[in-house]
Amino acid sequence: MTQSTQIDQDTSCDCGAVRLNANGRVVSMFQCACQNCQKVSGSGHSSVLLMPVDAVRVTGATKSFTRPAESGANFTRHFCPECGTTLYAESSRAPAFRILLAGLFAGSNDWYAPNQLIFSRSHPDWDLIESALPRYETYRPETPA
Ligand SMILES: [Zn+2]
Ligand SMILES: [Zn+2]
Repeated sequence: MTQSTQIDQDTSCDCGAVRLNANGRVVSMFQCACQNCQKVSGSGHSSVLLMPVDAVRVTGATKSFTRPAESGANFTRHFCPECGTTLYAESSRAPAFRILLAGLFAGSNDWYAPNQLIFSRSHPDWDLIESALPRYETYRPETPA
């Protein structure tokens, strides 16, 4: 199934120091229950979307943190140095995309429609995810995060 969701959204980090505009095609939407996502989201999973690099514009200084992903790629998360909100992330495995979290668009993310859960092996039972969603133990081949 190909998704062709288009968005044009302005948002900011929790303190407002960094602004982000996402204008373009949403390439992929999925839930990720890897342990890194659990730590960053504070929940049992992150609600992830991918957009082309040139569809995402960030205004304001961010800090970043890079760690090795399980795929062997470098995974870099960019966050506000004042309040810590994640603005976006990127993976060396898929440099053409920005990795965004649906929650960054709080209040205007009705368009979000994830179609799979990845890293289901570390997904906790108490974190409810639509049971009809396809589940993958770790990565699905096309998902770079
Ligand atoms: Zn901030
Ligand atoms: Zn994850």
